[in-house]
Amino acid sequence: MLATAVLILAAGSGIRAGGERPKQYQTVGGQPVLRLTAEAFLAHPAISHVLVVIGEGHEGFYAEAMQGLKLPPPVLGGQTRQESALRGLEALTALLPKKVLIHDGARPFVSPAVITQVISGLDRHEGVIPALPVTDTLKRAPGGLITSTVSRESLWGAQTPQGFRFADILAAHRRAVVQGLSELTDDAAVAEHAGLSVGIVPGDPGNRKLTTIDDIAEADRMLMRASFEKLPDVRVGQGFDVHAFEPGNHVVLCGVKIPHNRRLKGHSDADVAMHALTDAILGAISEGDIGQHFPPSDMQWKGAESHIFLRHASDLVTGRGGMIAHTDITIVCEEPRIGPHVPAMRSALSGILSVPTQRVAVKATTSEQLGFTGRREGIAAYATATVRLPL
Ligand code: MG
Repeated sequence: MLATAVLILAAGSGIRAGGERPKQYQTVGGQPVLRLTAEAFLAHPAISHVLVVIGEGHEGFYAEAMQGLKLPPPVLGGQTRQESALRGLEALTALLPKKVLIHDGARPFVSPAVITQVISGLDRHEGVIPALPVTDTLKRAPGGLITSTVSRESLWGAQTPQGFRFADILAAHRRAVVQGLSELTDDAAVAEHAGLSVGIVPGDPGNRKLTTIDDIAEADRMLMRASFEKLPDVRVGQGFDVHAFEPGNHVVLCGVKIPHNRRLKGHSDADVAMHALTDAILGAISEGDIGQHFPPSDMQWKGAESHIFLRHASDLVTGRGGMIAHTDITIVCEEPRIGPHVPAMRSALSGILSVPTQRVAVKATTSEQLGFTGRREGIAAYATATVRLPL
């Protein structure tokens, strides 16, 4: 029997936050919101099991966001929050935990102290929620016209995780369905309907729910500011590379295969742009150059894909406790045309480096038909990398 399991509800479509993916999969400080939320519980010593309830069609987002975390397969949620919670609880029945905490996927900043207080509060109450006293004056205003002022005395703003004894809350949820209740917006409301006594422990203003696109942007700024402060040693490295054309049918630039009537000659895949960037990163941390790490004389790198080199340079930065803050590449050639492939290139580099695409730049220019690039004899690439390290 498990002591305390956690159910994270992340089935919402998160439309209010905007963006190209649901808010729980958008990144703050370089990490998906849902991953931060799950990590907060996985790191707590009293938590033995974390299960996430996700929305239909979000399987791909989930797999990408949670890569490498020790989690069981997610459960698919329902139409409402209440239905999703019940599905998650039903999935936990096999494990029969003593206590369960139910938490919003979009509250990534839950503190260890709040988690601990909710769990220990369950020794005194059948249910426990963290909550904050309401500080704003409340008005009742149907149609936008004030009819009365609501006393805020004994009013609380509910947060999560909401903790319950597992058997109690499962029974309460099952009963709510039988009673035709389907729109209850938190689990404490389900518990109240079942007559359970639910106590309050102090919430945390930091434990806020990221609801709007502004919430996501503000959380991102907060985390980036914190990590930048820890990495005050700012370095800029530069890289330059050239590869000549030879007969062929495509070139590879920034990991993107571009059809062309020639290809680039080289020991590896001859991705001249990625080589320049790899050297820029190595330069920023004064770790030599690509040829020292991957000698062309070494047969194991023959035909190698250049993301291996780039990732190695990136790992060296991470190994020093640093981060890549920005990269910029200029590709110089008359042909092939680079512009249409820039979005795919930025996305490929962003994935390899784990740096947001907004911090990965790729540009192209011709050399006005002058010099070797102008004579279409090959492609050149320049790159810079801005790296931040701890002091
Ligand atoms: Mg090269």
